[in-house]
Amino acid sequence: MIFYFTGTGNSRFVAEKIAGKTGDEITDISTYIKAGENPVFDKKETYVFVAPSYCSFIAGPMADFAEKAVFPKGVKVYFVVTCVASMGATPAWAKKLSAKKGYEYMGSETVLMPQNYVAFFTTKEKSENAPVIEKALPKIEEIGDLIKSGSRFADKKNLPGELGFTLWQAKWFHDHMMKTKKFFTTDACVSCRKCVQVCPLGNINFENGRPKWGDNCTHCMACINLCPQQCIEYGKKTAGKPRYTGPYDIIK
Ligand code: SF4
Ligand code: SF4
Repeated sequence: MIFYFTGTGNSRFVAEKIAGKTGDEITDISTYIKAGENPVFDKKETYVFVAPSYCSFIAGPMADFAEKAVFPKGVKVYFVVTCVASMGATPAWAKKLSAKKGYEYMGSETVLMPQNYVAFFTTKEKSENAPVIEKALPKIEEIGDLIKSGSRFADKKNLPGELGFTLWQAKWFHDHMMKTKKFFTTDACVSCRKCVQVCPLGNINFENGRPKWGDNCTHCMACINLCPQQCIEYGKKTAGKPRYTGPYDIIK
């Protein structure tokens, strides 16, 4: 079974491509998150977790899911992180989690995908994102082959103390930077509610025909990037920047 957490679609794309190789079922963990469930899985099969890297660590919602969901002891677990540069201390965390839960840790790998963090960084036009995705495809194939054959990923080492520092940093970033106060819509909003539908945490409600952001946000950037009117902004940082509408919009 392959689990994924996604905002703009990078991790869903990678999960689907891996599933195309392994034949595994894929599941969007936002279903469990929105239902407030910590599921129990009793099938003795291989489990794969695919999620973005936020602040040099696997996305918080996926880390929470992997910590709280229950899988049978002894199952093989793989972690695949979509990122622009690095998965940071994810391997150290995944190894520790697997040892604590009695899973067989098979490794962590990265797939480099286009930048979607429009609130902080410069996002690119489709023509510049296409080669990034093209370049990722052989790596995804390789990952799929390794999982299918039950082989381990190459071992990735983290520095002593790196996990502790990264967890502190990720929590600080979550508490201080992943705010929703700066999201707003311009008058171009047509009340289509797409932003509500795409939020993987169910953090957007509707009030007076406009989206209203709650406090449970992981800055996945789905709402701002996928709004068809491009009328969501984040403070003064996003005006005029291209929106990343995901890999499916680039490679069919
Ligand atoms: S997706 Fe955009 S246009 Fe649609 S309701 Fe949300 S802000 Fe308005
Ligand atoms: S509110 Fe927007 S940025 Fe925050 S989690 Fe939902 S879709 Fe992602």
